[in-house]
Amino acid sequence: MSSRASVAASRLAVRRAATAIALRSPVAVGAGRSAAAVAPRVARRAMASSAASATSEQPNMFCFQCEQTEGGSGCTTIGVCGKTPETASLQDLLVHQLKGISRFNSRLHQMGKPSAEIDAFVLRALFSTLTNVNFDSDRFVAFCKEADAMLKNAEQLYRKAGGTDQIDTSSFQLGANTSLGALEDLGRKRGSVWARRQELGEDIAGLMELVTYGIKGAAAYHEHNLEMSGKTNPEIMKAIATGLDFLAAPPKGGYTAGDLTTLALKIGEANLSVMANLEQAHLSQFGTPSPKKVEIMPSKGKCILISGHDLVDLKALLEQTEGKGIDVYTHGEMLPGHGYPELNKHKHLKGNYGGAWQLQKFDFATFPGPIIMTSNCLIEPRKSYKERIYTRGVVGWPGVKHLKDRDFSGVINQALSLPGFDKDSSVQRHVTTGFGKDAVLGAAGAIVENVKAGNIKHFFFIGGCDGAEGERNYFKELALAAPKESVILTAGCGKYRFNKHDLGTIPGNSGIPRMIDMGQCNDSYGAVVVALALKDAFGAKSVNDLPLSFAVSWFEQKAVAVLLTLLHLGVKNIHLGPALPAFVSPAVLNVLIQNFGIKPINSNIHGELHSMMVDEQRR
Ligand code: SF4
Ligand code: SF4
Repeated sequence: MSSRASVAASRLAVRRAATAIALRSPVAVGAGRSAAAVAPRVARRAMASSAASATSEQPNMFCFQCEQTEGGSGCTTIGVCGKTPETASLQDLLVHQLKGISRFNSRLHQMGKPSAEIDAFVLRALFSTLTNVNFDSDRFVAFCKEADAMLKNAEQLYRKAGGTDQIDTSSFQLGANTSLGALEDLGRKRGSVWARRQELGEDIAGLMELVTYGIKGAAAYHEHNLEMSGKTNPEIMKAIATGLDFLAAPPKGGYTAGDLTTLALKIGEANLSVMANLEQAHLSQFGTPSPKKVEIMPSKGKCILISGHDLVDLKALLEQTEGKGIDVYTHGEMLPGHGYPELNKHKHLKGNYGGAWQLQKFDFATFPGPIIMTSNCLIEPRKSYKERIYTRGVVGWPGVKHLKDRDFSGVINQALSLPGFDKDSSVQRHVTTGFGKDAVLGAAGAIVENVKAGNIKHFFFIGGCDGAEGERNYFKELALAAPKESVILTAGCGKYRFNKHDLGTIPGNSGIPRMIDMGQCNDSYGAVVVALALKDAFGAKSVNDLPLSFAVSWFEQKAVAVLLTLLHLGVKNIHLGPALPAFVSPAVLNVLIQNFGIKPINSNIHGELHSMMVDEQRR
């Protein structure tokens, strides 16, 4: 099946899904494998979800946008992430205001007269509301005030461009309500997801959040691109503005599950362009990555640690620390930076320190130098390193020093004043990264030959986010239990569960490694391109006909965007976990399971492997 045919099949599945949800037919909610039969954790979530929606009194806050949400249903008193009700309300208000701005912004895009200023603001504001990005209420008060000015600006531009549509924006305006308390109040009144669930029901409200979180994820990836190139892509921004506009005001007849599901897949489609654009920006600024062994043990000397996803910050830091006797270490999603020639040409890009984001309280506490957090995922800094941590870009925590631009002189001075590592590590350890899609496609001939020779019997994509839950060991156990005649593609910080294990090479003398780290979570794009290339190389009709399985570890909204992209491409039978999204209602969840083959992960690893390697090939 061509990718166009895959997309068409996917859309057919969507129509069936939408009809099933709309009719609440036995097929949708009762027959076949129920959610409870599929996974007990899903059933628990379904019960928690119903209980949450049955509560009639508005809680202090309501957020269920990430995987770790409280009780599997929603954070209602304080976020598991540390987000306060105050910040949650301000974030809800900001997202609501962005929908208002998009009433005009989508029209400006349709008229071919977008505003670069508005588009950049929309991306930064959306990104700031993602999980583990910004916890600073003062920054959100500033964002909300700027959004109010941006709404007026957008309307003026629209009228100036000749726009005549009558649009009531009174519910998006702040008026005199600009104090912190007043804004918090407005957020509870106008932006509350809880209230929307009461009004529209959990199926429709949940689908609206699915679209919103997909938009947030795509916007965050596109903001990385903006950070690098200073530009946005008009087609991508048009898709984001149109999606937000649709959520701003219901169409005649109200929202339907079908329209919202179709929109979710359109966001997945737009996110494919987002990831392609970001890859191109990385290639043009940092060169084509190639496999690189990276030291994971520290060396004696002064040091700076840099985390998050913004490689352009890493580049600036490397340039500013050149010749200063300071080693730069990467943390979390910065690891793939070591594969790019324009970054690894700096000899003081020393190594990678620590693991995924959830370990930062330990990793940052033990690192003897300053730390820069360029993007998500940030957790509450401990006192022991609060004076040594800096935020950049959209990231924020109250009381933590924020760098408004890429002048790292203060960080460098602090690094010079701190002791750094006092000795070299006695053990030599390393991980390998830098397998961009070009490196993998360059080996496509050898891969096909080895498949024909039986040295590769299966491909796995095991990756995505990481998180604190023990259930995420599933992804490690799966990677370790995979047969030696298999290749594991990975991307995102989920790989830290298993990337320090030496999985060796496939049988034979090709030297093809069994684990291929393709980069950050946005580099999942590379895995998609590789999958499509394998489909062509093997003459398969669809990616689903390949001996290829997806096990996706999701945590927050960037992962939602990647998941929507995979669904848009018609990829089926994705194993997803540790728990399925709380914002997807039980009815919608069952339809996703039945129409897209989404599978909640299961602790029976051998059963999972059997399902991936045998059952799926019979389809
Ligand atoms: S982002 Fe996640 S952990 Fe934080 S409040 Fe929302 S659902 Fe809870
Ligand atoms: S991959 Fe996901 S969980 Fe990991 S740092 Fe990036 S956004 Fe956070």
